[in-house]
Amino acid sequence: MKKDYINGLSDRIGQQVRVAGWVQARRDMGKIIFIDLRDSTGLLQVVFPPTDRGLLEQANRLRPEYVISVVGRLNERPEKMRNPKLPMGHVELAAESLEILNESETPPFEVDQDTRSVNEELRLKYRYLDLRSDRMARNIRLRDRTVFFIRQWLRERSFVEVETPILTKGTPEGAREYLVPSRLHAGKFYVLPQSPQQFKQLLMVAGLERYFQIPRCFRDEDQRGDRQPEFTQLDLEISFVDQEEEVMGLIEELMVALVGSVTPEKRILQKPFPRLTYAEAMEKYGSDKPDLRQDQNDQDELAFLWVTDFPLFEHSETENKLVSVHHPFTSPKDEDLGLLDKEPAKVRAKAYDLVLNGYEVGGGSIRIHERGLQDRIFRILGLEEEEIAQRFGHMLEAFTYGAPPHGGIAPGIDRLVMILAGEPNIREVMAFPKTGDARDPMMGAPSPMPRSQLKEVHIRPEAE
Ligand code: ASP
Repeated sequence: MKKDYINGLSDRIGQQVRVAGWVQARRDMGKIIFIDLRDSTGLLQVVFPPTDRGLLEQANRLRPEYVISVVGRLNERPEKMRNPKLPMGHVELAAESLEILNESETPPFEVDQDTRSVNEELRLKYRYLDLRSDRMARNIRLRDRTVFFIRQWLRERSFVEVETPILTKGTPEGAREYLVPSRLHAGKFYVLPQSPQQFKQLLMVAGLERYFQIPRCFRDEDQRGDRQPEFTQLDLEISFVDQEEEVMGLIEELMVALVGSVTPEKRILQKPFPRLTYAEAMEKYGSDKPDLRQDQNDQDELAFLWVTDFPLFEHSETENKLVSVHHPFTSPKDEDLGLLDKEPAKVRAKAYDLVLNGYEVGGGSIRIHERGLQDRIFRILGLEEEEIAQRFGHMLEAFTYGAPPHGGIAPGIDRLVMILAGEPNIREVMAFPKTGDARDPMMGAPSPMPRSQLKEVHIRPEAE
């Protein structure tokens, strides 16, 4: 007999069904045993009646998280015995046979409770148990619905999803890069992408016009605040846009549709989303990601806004030179082009950030698509001719083969889902996140490597 999923049982009352899942709880009421059975779709009460001694004895062995399969008759519960809190609280299964498919050790924490207060290291070590808890399972499903909605919405608007390399060369997004030693090319390294920025621009040169991807991005940063070494973005690029408005308008439409579909209980405070220039935001709120919610305790308020006109460059104290605020492919504003050589620090960028409830949930820009201008920007950033050629020669060359004007953005999926789920950090909406100091306590990563393997990739252990 095939397994019936618990959430599909409503119209099976009076019939024989087979359910399978995990024992969430067992209650012994004298001669009757009740089990709360959990599968991926819900909870169901199973009753082992006193009339069948053999069955009852079997049920007596059940402990939390045992994996079982039960065949029985699905009955409507008497009025007073219903549990209005559960979707299947109006029915119960009168067990006729039970099969124990696997036993379980007592879990290191209770998975039938919210695991929020459990030590996080322990939760991450036993993440497969943590994910059994209702809240975590709901977060993972909300993330799935979010990503699915975005994919569908963009494909309906002629966007093409393209995968770009993970083993690649560095692309500047302002963070340290993860390196992968090459075995075949001694002394050379791949770099894990901080974002697909260059590839998506090259896809515009390739004539794709509307690209998206939901890629993993890697940044080897000191773990300040709520960051992860790998995270997920909705990466998007469009050709023949030269105004910020076109990208912002599209993303705004997507966000409104997304919230309406996956979290319809939430309220977007202002539509269209308010727009502030960077200068206005700093003057009015002292922040480039102000929280415009009216009541910060109201889980259902969503305050989106756009911050635009960021400076193109900022002065880096540590490097004592100008660096890009967004990244070096960002276009200056047309009206500020004249300032580029004389007062570069005053040049504003065609760059925009999407802010939600005080978090930056995405940033993007209109790009440079002319070789000459791109070259000028690299020079203002203090790059020497040789370095430009070595790091970005392919971009400059591509721009000489008919690069269309283009622009894009990359909203962060983790942060967006975190806010929609009402969670305080992104780890709560990632299936297998790392600790604050970039470890995976479950897999034991990072880990030492055997000498022989290191040798193959031409690495000599320090101690040698
Ligand atoms: N690549 C940028 C980032 O990762 C986003 C963009 O400009 O589209 O922040």
